[in-house]
Amino acid sequence: DQSVCTPLPVLGRDVTVPLVTGGEVSYAALDYAASAPALQRVWDDVAAYAPYYGSVHRGAGYLSQLSTDLFENARKTVAEFLGCRPADQVIFTRSTTDSLNLLARVIPADCEVFVFETEHHASLLPWQDARVTCLDAPRTPRQAVQTLERALAGRDPYGPALVCVTGASNVTGELWPVRELAAAAHAHGARIVLDAAQLAPHHPVDLRDLDVDWVAFSGHKLYAPFGSGVLAGRADWLQAAEPYLAGGGASRKVTRRQDGGVAVEWHETAARHEAGSPNVIGAYAIASACKALTEAGWDTLVAREQHLIAKVREGLAEVPEVRVLSLFGDDAPRVGVISFVVEGWNSSHFAAALSAEYGIGVRDGLFCAHPLVRTLLGSDPQTQGECGAPEAAPGEKSLNAIRVSFGAGTPDEHVERFVNAVR
Ligand code: PMP
Repeated sequence: DQSVCTPLPVLGRDVTVPLVTGGEVSYAALDYAASAPALQRVWDDVAAYAPYYGSVHRGAGYLSQLSTDLFENARKTVAEFLGCRPADQVIFTRSTTDSLNLLARVIPADCEVFVFETEHHASLLPWQDARVTCLDAPRTPRQAVQTLERALAGRDPYGPALVCVTGASNVTGELWPVRELAAAAHAHGARIVLDAAQLAPHHPVDLRDLDVDWVAFSGHKLYAPFGSGVLAGRADWLQAAEPYLAGGGASRKVTRRQDGGVAVEWHETAARHEAGSPNVIGAYAIASACKALTEAGWDTLVAREQHLIAKVREGLAEVPEVRVLSLFGDDAPRVGVISFVVEGWNSSHFAAALSAEYGIGVRDGLFCAHPLVRTLLGSDPQTQGECGAPEAAPGEKSLNAIRVSFGAGTPDEHVERFVNAVR
């Protein structure tokens, strides 16, 4: 099928890089899970708008009005892309990390938070000021739901609680049973936020369909450039809390108090948490990416990605020294994110060789998901540093892994080159 074979045009597809063996080769960007190359279409949209941008929200000039319209229309486009309910708010942030930290700042003071140890640090760490229960890594999607149900059953059903869960793992690429987890959370009076950083670039995310309360994602993984993200969902906790940032744009009325202090009334719209001049270009780029993905069609995008996943999985299966990391087993549905270790190889050296000898960019390390990678590798947490890529001594288990990830812009040649290189 021709449509399955055609990648979407992305930036950097003509970039060549030098090889240590001599000569040059086109760069194979296979680190989409960290940052996907922006779609050419997104870049063109931004370039077409850039000469006309002006200050937003308070400017009276023509270009200010144009920018304000584009910014607010970007919000509507994202709301549509996410299947938001009429009362949901879409807040533009810097990234998924920023979105989840924002949410952590607005949850009620007595909120209990439930997270699996398998989460990316962006989902695992922002809740440190709350009462956090960290749940064991499940070995099946069903076990994930059972583990959550068991944990929630013991709590006061009338107190506030939040479950934070990923839609697709940034390590294994495996899909999590979001709909079932949301149903379990709601059945026990808890709310749920979906970390869609890895899900949104690969699958449609619909708040109503999944019945999640909030969703967070990053523009730079969704084929937009760096610097913008989204938190979307229920307005009540967002409106009840103090603003994430205090400043202009978030305040409706500011006055001097009799006692010499300053009194402020905050907006109750998304602006409450968007103080300061917003990243209009970033919001516009995200909206452009949402439109481009919708127009390309999820059926085609998913079919193409599954075609690439099959190529990589089959190729890796032919190499006996390769062990693909998985929580839910080989047949689990997944996105184009695959981590593995190679017996007899230090993962960092292996990734460096893929770059230097084949022009292939992958990631090595612990992928900002230390507890999950330790569980998958079965290695001793005490021996690992906080960041970077620790080395295993000869004959020891790997302390880190290699991750290959791809998406809508990946040509077949890149994954074929990768598989041949591993071989
Ligand atoms: N959650 C997941 C599942 C991720 O993969 C990432 C990025 N690797 C994040 C959150 C954080 O995204 P960002 O760095 O854009 O804030």
